[in-house]
Amino acid sequence: DWSLKDFDIGRPLGKGHFGKVYLARVRKPGAESFVLVLKCLAKDEVASKGVQTQVRREIEVMQQLRHPNIIRLYGWFHDSQRIYLMLEYAAGQGELFKHLRKAGRFSESRSARYISQVSDGLAYLHTKNIIHRDIKPENLLLGMQGEVKVGDFGWSVYAPSEDSQRTIAGTLSYVAPEMILGQAYGRAVDIWALGVLTYELVCGAEPFGADNPRTRICRCELSFPDFVSINARSFMHKLLCLTPNERLPLDRIRDEEWIVESVR
Ligand code: AMP
Repeated sequence: DWSLKDFDIGRPLGKGHFGKVYLARVRKPGAESFVLVLKCLAKDEVASKGVQTQVRREIEVMQQLRHPNIIRLYGWFHDSQRIYLMLEYAAGQGELFKHLRKAGRFSESRSARYISQVSDGLAYLHTKNIIHRDIKPENLLLGMQGEVKVGDFGWSVYAPSEDSQRTIAGTLSYVAPEMILGQAYGRAVDIWALGVLTYELVCGAEPFGADNPRTRICRCELSFPDFVSINARSFMHKLLCLTPNERLPLDRIRDEEWIVESVR
C-alpha cells in the first residue's frame, strides 16, 4: 500500500534502461523516515521491449533476499504509467564499473576484497537456489563502507535442480562455455562469471576480448599481463575451468591464498 505521495523525491542518481532512478525519503505517517532509492520503470517501455518477465523476476527474487552484499528490495508499487521499486540506497557513488573505468584497473588487494564480497553474496543466492547469471561490474554497486552490493537481478533464475537451465542469458563476455555450447547448465555459471570479473578488476580489460569472445571462451584462452601476481593467476585458473564442476566452490574462496592475503 505505497504510492508516490509517500515519498519526498530527491536528486536523480542515474538513468536505467526503462526510466530514472531517484534518491528519496519516506514520509508516510507512522512509517519510519528513511532514505532509499526509487527506481521508476515506464510500463509502456517495459511492454514494448517485452521485458515484463525480467521485471517480474527481478521483483520476485529480490524481495526474498537479505544479505549485506545484495541490494535489498523493500517493496514496490505501481500507478497507471510506472512501476516503482523501493531499493536500498548504495551510498558509495554508483556502479563499480564507473570506478573501474576511472581507475583503469584496481590493485589486487582491492580486487580481492570485492571478489570475496561478491562470492559471499553469490553463495547466499545459491543457498536459495537462485542463479544470478549476470555478474559484471555494471551490476555491482558500492555501499557506504565501500562494500560491494549486487544490484541487478533481471537475468536471475530460480533453479532448484542442478544443471536444469538452457536459456542463453546475461552478457556475452561473461557467459560460461557450457552456455555458449548449448548444454544444460547450473549455478557454476556464476563462478565462471566471478572469474571473468576478477580478471576485469585486476587487468582492466575483459579476459576473452570484446569483439568475438565465443571461441576464446570455449577454449578458455587466458593470457595475463606481466603485472598479474602468481596467486592471482592461480585463483583465476581455479574459477575459469571449462568443466563446471571443477570450478572452485564458492565456500572455499575465502580460504584461497590470494583472498586471505588481501582481506586480512
Ligand atoms: P539501473 O537502472 O539499475 O541501471 O540504474 C541506473 C543508475 O542508478 C546506476 O548506474 C546507479 O548509478 C544508480 N543506482 C541504481 N540503483 C541504485 C541504488 N540502489 N543505490 C544507488 N544508486 C543506484
